[in-house]
Amino acid sequence: MRLILLAAPGAGKGTQAEMLSEHYNIPSISTGAILRKNIKEGTELGKIAAEYINEGRLIPDELMLKVMDERFKQDDCKNGFILDGFPRTIAQAEALSASPIEIDKVLSLEVDDETIIERLGGRLECKSCGSTYHTEHKPPKTPGICDKCGGELGTRADDKPETVRERLHTYHTQTEPLIEYYKNKGLLRVAKGQSEIDATSRVVLEALEA
Ligand code: ADP
Ligand code: ZN
Repeated sequence: MRLILLAAPGAGKGTQAEMLSEHYNIPSISTGAILRKNIKEGTELGKIAAEYINEGRLIPDELMLKVMDERFKQDDCKNGFILDGFPRTIAQAEALSASPIEIDKVLSLEVDDETIIERLGGRLECKSCGSTYHTEHKPPKTPGICDKCGGELGTRADDKPETVRERLHTYHTQTEPLIEYYKNKGLLRVAKGQSEIDATSRVVLEALEA
């Protein structure tokens, strides 16, 4: 199973990617997590990525394609994967489609902008392992502490209101056209985001397995 998840920032894409990764026993590849790890480690890629991410813009296609090329070569990709955050532009989708990788399904998780702005407001991220939480919708067992690794939780730099607006704009102009692109290829499945995580997971699985 090689799956692409499409959704606006804050729609719950990462949470559903984690659920699907367990369900199908294949890795979830989060481009945002890869980039943030590079920023934290101060790599060359991280230095460039930080400038774009902090402004709510996408990092250049060429650079992103190089990152993914490397990632697809790793062993754990052999039996399939879930792509959380790639492709994000038509140019990235065309490069993927020109590669030997065959995508089976593309799931679009639909959530309206108001819900997104509300959700990103309460989002928390583990500074050590990158797991995400939400003060209301997905609270950690102990406030401020990651359930998975005990790391400290904090707010992502790009979750501040000005950047959130810019990220939504970027999504609508650059990523949303992919919905039509994959619809035309006959790969698109659509799921409506629900207010509860479990309900969303059910809708997502139904859409994929129908
Ligand atoms: P979200 O989906 O909540 O915006 P992500 O963690 O998926 O967050 O991505 C964070 C940021 O990383 C994006 O706003 C963008 O700047 C950068 N990024 C992630 N994936 C890509 C990609 N495929 N192409 C270009 N930039 C990307
Ligand atoms: Zn953690």
